[in-house]
Amino acid sequence: MQKIQQYFQSLLLWELVKGLQLTGKYLFKRKITIQYPEEKTPMSPRFRGLHALRRYPNGEERCIACKLCEAVCPAVAITIDSEQREDGTRRTTRYDIDLTKCIFCGFCEESCPVDSIVETHVFEYHGEQRGDLLMNKQKLLANGDKYEKQIAEAREKDSLYR
Ligand code: SF4
Ligand code: SF4
Repeated sequence: MQKIQQYFQSLLLWELVKGLQLTGKYLFKRKITIQYPEEKTPMSPRFRGLHALRRYPNGEERCIACKLCEAVCPAVAITIDSEQREDGTRRTTRYDIDLTKCIFCGFCEESCPVDSIVETHVFEYHGEQRGDLLMNKQKLLANGDKYEKQIAEAREKDSLYR
């Protein structure tokens, strides 16, 4: 009996009819496909993209070389060297992030006591050689300077959760 049913269903193209039924159901509904890159979907203030090191408004770098981010990084992607300055404060002499290892978990950002290392909303970047994805202190500070407005706005929106 089942075989006869299957025979008639295949003869009447029943699977095709079912597929077209589904297409028809969505034909006049609101379209959810967007035309990237001209159109973009909304982004959460907590989105984790390209890393940056922030500065205070007076230009002083925030990072105090406590190395919490280096210790917490599950991918062992962060490498920090530091030294004490003449005024007694500690600052990094080397701050590297290997983006080929990073899993964008955000632990570094969460662990930082001075809001220095952050992940921006920038996701449209690429590297053509492996070295392009090795971030050093200069590149990270440059990212921080470039995207500070966007970072500060995202932190303002996200402040309820912090
Ligand atoms: S986002 Fe996660 S994996 Fe990437 S550097 Fe920070 S702690 Fe490490
Ligand atoms: S970025 Fe933050 S957590 Fe990492 S060493 Fe600097 S101050 Fe410490």
